[in-house]
Parts: sequence; structure tokens; C-alpha cells
Amino acid sequence: MSNPPPSSPIRQFASDTYAGMCPEAVAAFQEANRGHVTAYGDDWWTTRATVLLRDLFETDCEVFFVSTGTAANALALAALCQSYQSVLCHADAHIQTDECGAPEYAARGIKLIPLPGEQGKLEPEIVRRAATGQRDVHSHKPGVLSLSLTSEAGTVYGVEEMRALGEVARETGLQVHVDGARFANALATRRVSPAALTWQAGVDVLCFGGAKNGLAVGDAIVFFNRDVAHEFAYRRKQAGHLLAKMRYVAAPWVALLESGAWLRNAEHANEMASQLERELRAFAGLDLVYPVQANAVFVRIPPKWVEGLHQRGWHFYSIAGAERLMCSWDTEAADIDAFVKDLRAVAVTD
Ligand SMILES: *Cc1c(COP(=O)(O)O)cnc(C)c1O
Repeated sequence: MSNPPPSSPIRQFASDTYAGMCPEAVAAFQEANRGHVTAYGDDWWTTRATVLLRDLFETDCEVFFVSTGTAANALALAALCQSYQSVLCHADAHIQTDECGAPEYAARGIKLIPLPGEQGKLEPEIVRRAATGQRDVHSHKPGVLSLSLTSEAGTVYGVEEMRALGEVARETGLQVHVDGARFANALATRRVSPAALTWQAGVDVLCFGGAKNGLAVGDAIVFFNRDVAHEFAYRRKQAGHLLAKMRYVAAPWVALLESGAWLRNAEHANEMASQLERELRAFAGLDLVYPVQANAVFVRIPPKWVEGLHQRGWHFYSIAGAERLMCSWDTEAADIDAFVKDLRAVAVTD
């Protein structure tokens, strides 16, 4: 994209991936850029990041860094599944709608089973029915329950909900995968220990996202169930995700974890989303679609106003008839004011 015209907004609500690196990540990147370091993750930064994640989750998990969330999900699911197994997930799950079949490609033969659920969330009874209602050897054997934290609707399971889903998974023989592209935002909402929302609730593998939380690149696959990580190093290498200069992914992770910025960034993004929500609720003619529980606001805006906002330089995506407005670690109150001002302007001229 060319440079924006001077009147265009500097920051957008299109996606938290539009935001740059946070200062802690930039500083760590430069810090890691001093002299020669052992390659392929056999370095101080990668070891340190792994130790910090073990501390954060209060357990001896196995950690592997990969470059994207899609790779994290696909490789984690490949490690969890036999080729004849299926993955139960929400119909709007990123793995189902936004990964171009990466999980099915990485774990050839598997099938994703999309399930309905209000506000982007799955419910235990629906999972139980799907897990037990399959035909015998003629259909895929349900193997994994995949949950998104936060959900694609911007909602967040609580500890009790996670436990109830984990319990159903255990009873029906499913392993549990969490797509945590926005796991930090979920924790910022729930304010519980990372352990409580994951392995203590029965989660086997978490894909912990960094890119939407102030990093440039790099997600962590966290195996709470170490058996699943067996020979995972080969799987990652074969898929082309063993980065030679792993330190450039690991060092920013270290900085975020050590400084607490990972949580502060998420708290800030969530706070900005609730400010934006308050502004939009006070605005006649708009309709908030989901409860705002993290950093996403889904709002129905009349099409003519949407067009007017786009013309004024605002980027955002329409998803299932609503506009998705995402806040980031660097969203400022002034951005919300500017957006609402333009909204007022397009509403007046309508
Ligand atoms: C962004 C996102 C991912 C990862 O996307 P990549 O572009 O592959 O890094 C995974 N799951 C969800 C729910 C996401 O929003």
C-alpha cells in the first residue's frame, strides 16, 4: 500500500495485526542483534522464553515457536490427531474458516466438524452429542475438541465453562486444543491464572499468539500434555517452521513476559474496546451484536454510513452482516474520538 493521504487515520480498527511492534519487543529485537548466536533455537533467548512460559503456566510444559498462528494450529492438531480422527470446533472457528485447510493438510485425512454455538462459544451438551453421535468405523472418530480463546466473536470462556468443556472432552475421549491467537486478551478479561484457564481445565495444547499482542511474528505452541509433543521437533522442521534465527522470535517473547507487557498490552486493547463500545451504544441507529468481552466490537452500521467511513479512510471488515472493530495494544482514546466524529458526520449527511 502507498502512503496514506495526510487526513487518513494513522491507526485503524481493522485488525490487531495492523498494529506494529510494542516498544518492549523492538528493544528486545535490537538487544538480540548483537554478535553471533547459536542458530535453530539452540540459544539463550529461546531457552529463556521457554522457562518463562513454564513459570507463567506453573507447569513443566513443552514449548515450540513457529511463525504463524495458522502453522501453530495446524501442527498442533496434526500432533494430536490420527489421520482418521476429527476435530470438533465452532462453525466460525479460525481453523474452519480462515486457514485454507491447513489443519487438514498437516494431518492428512482428518476432518473438522463445525458445530453451532451462541456468541462464538461451544456448549458442553452440543460437544457431547457430536462426540458420541458419530457412526462407527464408517465415519471419522472424534479425537479433538478445539476451542478459541478469545472466540472469533470476541467473547471469552470463563473458568467454569472451560472446566465443563474439558470434563465433556475427558468423558468422551477427546483431547483439547486451544486456539489462543488472543489468549492474552482472554486472560486480561478473566483475570485468573493462566493455569486455571488451560491445563487445570483439561487443555492439552495451547497455541499462544504473539502477533496480535505487540510482537512482529511468532506464536508459541505450549504442550501441557508432553506426550503429544513426542517427536514434534521433526514435525515443525518438516513444515519449515524451525527458524534458523529463532532468537528474533524468542527475544521479544522474553521481553513481553519479563516486563508484563503481554498482559498490559491486552488489558489496554480490551479497555479501548469497552470505551469504543460505550461510545457506540450511545449512538442511535447502531446495533451491538455480541457482548464486548475482549478487544473486538461487532456492530451493525447502516451500509451507507459504512461506505462513508471507508471513504474517510477507515478500514474495517464486514463479517456476517456486522462490522468488526478491533482494538490493539496501541489504540488511543483519540482514535476512538476520531472514529466517532466521522461516524457522526456520515450519519448527519445521510
Ligand atoms: C489471527 C488468528 C489466528 C492466526 O492467524 P495467522 O495469520 O496465521 O497468524 C488464529 N486463530 C485466530 C482465532 C485468529 O484470530
